[in-house]
Amino acid sequence: MNATQKVIRTTCPYCGTGCGVKALVSPTGAIEICGDDEHPANFGRLCVKGAALAETLTEEGRLLHPKVNGARADWETALRLVADRFRETIAAHGPDAVAFYVSGQMLTEDYYVANRLMKGFIGSANIDTNSRLCMASSVAGHKRAFGADVVPNVYEDLETADLVLLVGSNLAWCHPVLYQRLEAAKARRPDLRIIDIDPRRTATSELCDAHLALAPGSDVALFLGLLTYLDRVGACDHDYVARHTSGVETALAAAKPWSIGDVARATGVVASEIEALYALFATRERVVTVYSQGVNQSVHGTDKVNAILNCHLFTGRIGKPGSGPFSVTGQPNAMGGREVGGLANQLACHMELDDPHHRAIVQSHWRAPTIADRPGLKAVEMFDAVRDGRVRAIWIIGANPAVSLPQADVVRAALAACPFVVVSDAMEHTDTTALASVVLPAQAWSEKDGTVTNSERRISRQRALRKGVGESLPDWRIICRVATLMGFEGFDYQTPADIFREYAALSGRLNHGARDFDISVHEEATQADYDRLAPFQWPSRKGARKSSEAKRFFGRGGFFTPDRRARLVATPYVAPAPHEQHTPFVLNTGRIRDQWHTMTRTGVSPRLSRHIAEPFVEIHPADAEALRIAPASLVRLSNARGAVVLRALVTERQRRGAVFAPFHWTGLLASAARVDALVGAATDPVSGQPGLKEARVTVVPF
Ligand code: SF4
Repeated sequence: MNATQKVIRTTCPYCGTGCGVKALVSPTGAIEICGDDEHPANFGRLCVKGAALAETLTEEGRLLHPKVNGARADWETALRLVADRFRETIAAHGPDAVAFYVSGQMLTEDYYVANRLMKGFIGSANIDTNSRLCMASSVAGHKRAFGADVVPNVYEDLETADLVLLVGSNLAWCHPVLYQRLEAAKARRPDLRIIDIDPRRTATSELCDAHLALAPGSDVALFLGLLTYLDRVGACDHDYVARHTSGVETALAAAKPWSIGDVARATGVVASEIEALYALFATRERVVTVYSQGVNQSVHGTDKVNAILNCHLFTGRIGKPGSGPFSVTGQPNAMGGREVGGLANQLACHMELDDPHHRAIVQSHWRAPTIADRPGLKAVEMFDAVRDGRVRAIWIIGANPAVSLPQADVVRAALAACPFVVVSDAMEHTDTTALASVVLPAQAWSEKDGTVTNSERRISRQRALRKGVGESLPDWRIICRVATLMGFEGFDYQTPADIFREYAALSGRLNHGARDFDISVHEEATQADYDRLAPFQWPSRKGARKSSEAKRFFGRGGFFTPDRRARLVATPYVAPAPHEQHTPFVLNTGRIRDQWHTMTRTGVSPRLSRHIAEPFVEIHPADAEALRIAPASLVRLSNARGAVVLRALVTERQRRGAVFAPFHWTGLLASAARVDALVGAATDPVSGQPGLKEARVTVVPF
């Protein structure tokens, strides 16, 4: 850093780790990026994506001005058209005929006004976020067990645990700084045991003491077996269970048939490895189970989550230093979206749509003419409704569903036939902007101000480093202008600080002092307070004593259920359907280390694109040989929903009968590589999360 550079502290826009970033801005406008050594998520560390952020600050490919039917338009014309068409659609077909599909890339203030407009003014709950695809099963599991969507733990717990289980989580590639923290802890304390539980061997496995390559979809069996083992060997924390939980008998009854032999048969893992894992869990005092998309992205995702939570509740290994079940989120602000009400089945600030008292509080705080009183359409349902004409106008903000939703080809066709599609995006050309009647240029990271929440409930500021490109505007301002043009009052916020203050005040309006999500300490934040807001964890209640200690939940009970007890939930195991002859492989989709989502940002960095330059599919050598697939040859994956062509990566990392392919490549980059076109529309019945890792496909040489 030199004396002429200005330091601006902000937050990385990629994953749910939520690393603090220091931007060094020169008088010429040149920007250098380094890790923020004062941010408690990363203490100065950055992964390769975060470190390359400055390389992505280009105007190349950016959407610079509004467009209507492909032609340049001024803001007034474009926004008036959006407002008129939404108003006309609502008048003709009712409020449920319109929908917003939003994104975990949005800042909390953007989310807040979008949610307020849809649920309080339009009067429908048809707003859902692409975070539905990433962590809805964790939300549902938390609510079933804890009575609220609360992550009990903090990142420090990974470093102080005696045993860390990583379940369906390639931490090394998907949350690299958390992986670095774990790696450093292991170097300091070699006795720390780390077990990788994942059908696929990944970069994360290299750090682990053991890798259990369980069969796809068999996680519930593994944790049912663990619960019955813990009971058998006397590892139950009877005092904790008696004082703070309910449902233990029912959960144990569901787990009782599961001997280690049964688990071995269901998971395909040898019995001795299962027993070693169970013994470690039973005997190590401090245990953290980290889980991610391998658990959530399943049609049984909520049961998988509760099967994990049951084991922690049963042994009292929760909410204490180095102990607890720890869901890590994919997107930078998936957690913020959960808090602010970006999901179709919740109100703001963890209040509930089906509770009249909650609805009354939110409606009065919003000064809203109405309030939605029943859940709206969840992500997959929303695009089904677009397809069958129930939704006739949709506004997509910061998302690319024509690539990333299950049945991506069907979604694309549905949007093409929808009477009115609006897309707000930073990028001009995406698979989804190509289908829009109106496209609106949104500001991107480095240009806008707001807050985000990371996986340990820590709220941090994103700060603007430079002016927005072209005519782009922040999402919150675009949404507020449309709301005003629709005739609604009260959307005259001047800055994101105004929105944050209102949001913080709402969080303190219910059972003040006894709630989970509460940031009311900031309800009177001035612009100056907001400008210098330091990272903080919730709860941060007004009047509470300030503490710099990490905040854990539930070490001493205090759950958010009516009887204040956690619920152990019976989680019956449903074995995956037998393979059909014409689709014998399970397709697992996921991320690669150096790319993010549909590559709109990371794809512009040559350095990041050098890591893996083209779409691929991992396949086991024995399967490749049986199918006469040579390494690096092209193969075709297909099923009734579509087909893709990918480069074969023949590797023993992959299980037999399963293949893995990244989802980053879009139709614009590689027209035959949109792997989510192969994923079915089946969802978890509780959470609505689709089984993005469970498609069945056939694989043949191309
Ligand atoms: Fe950004 Fe995640 Fe990397 Fe941190 S770990 S620098 S938040 S991508």
